[in-house]
Amino acid sequence: MKSSVIPRLTIVVPCYNEEPVLPTSAPVLRRILQRLTDHQQVTTDSKILFVDDGSQDRTWALITDLRQQDTCYTGLKFSRNYGQEAALMAGMQAAQHHADLIVTIDADLQDDPQLIFGMIEQAREGFDIVYGVRNDRSTDTWFKRTTAQGFYWFMGKLGVDLIPNHSDFRLMSQRAVAALMSCQESHPFIRGIIPQLGFPATKLYYKRQPRQAGVSKYPLRKMIRFALDGILSFSVAPIRAVLYAGLLICGGAFLVLLWILIQHIRGAVVTGWSSIMASLWFLGGFQLVAISIIGEYVGRTFTEVKHRPRFIIQSDTYSSAFTPAQPVVPLTRDHSSH
Ligand code: UDP
Ligand code: MG
Repeated sequence: MKSSVIPRLTIVVPCYNEEPVLPTSAPVLRRILQRLTDHQQVTTDSKILFVDDGSQDRTWALITDLRQQDTCYTGLKFSRNYGQEAALMAGMQAAQHHADLIVTIDADLQDDPQLIFGMIEQAREGFDIVYGVRNDRSTDTWFKRTTAQGFYWFMGKLGVDLIPNHSDFRLMSQRAVAALMSCQESHPFIRGIIPQLGFPATKLYYKRQPRQAGVSKYPLRKMIRFALDGILSFSVAPIRAVLYAGLLICGGAFLVLLWILIQHIRGAVVTGWSSIMASLWFLGGFQLVAISIIGEYVGRTFTEVKHRPRFIIQSDTYSSAFTPAQPVVPLTRDHSSH
């Protein structure tokens, strides 16, 4: 059933050192918003919200310039770089108080922004979550393609429900975002949490373009961290796997002991330096891996219990776009008692 109320939209765009692409991406998103308002698909006070994730270049200056040209552009600025997930969370957190529908999209517009029209349509049909899914990965390098496939496979084995080939291009309803915000983790793995929220969801397919300008903000180091975040924040399976492997090795060691004992009784003791060294290294290595996995979880518990804020906002031109600024009341001092 199509809803007759016109929804208010906010498009959340995380930006980290996006000076080279913003001047081209912003007008593209603006035109999409204009067409949506012209066709009364979204309200005229719908916004584009850039979240500046502590950029070192002129990204924030560009965002404030855009804001001066057109009130549909708004921005949040972090006090430093907190990462894309934090930028998305901040944008959605601010938007949930003002918007009925929230779309998130990367600043480089590698994900086809024209898909937003279809997303709004699906939302108005009653879907709370519309995933943008890539229908081919031909623009990726062989390395990125295979590692991504490996990641989805591994996460699936761990029982984490991920949408394959979906990154952070999606539409969510206000209530779905509110549900996401009720997750209190300080490092939420958004792509893993959203499918767990429930709510009616659907997928739309598109072809991903190469980045038009600037460079990828995901070097190998950040990709590994992202994958580890996903695995460790979502599953205790690695700890269990270590436990089972440990038990198996202990069982094996018991058999070896038995064998050594038998050999000893038979008087056929072999001084096998190599086998001792091999097992020494293997067990030593295995113990280190096991300890480090446990350490990872302990470390994560440590960071979670601190309840540090996910991000710190330095400037906000989004929220003030909806609530008229209160006049500042000058502090008056009552001198009458003197
Ligand atoms: N991004 C961010 N903070 C970061 C890294 C990236 O906000 O620390 C943003 C970036 O500006 C872009 C999006 O996340 O809008 C995706 O980054 P990128 O396009 O570099 O990733 P890739 O497409 O190469 O995976
Ligand atoms: Mg990109």
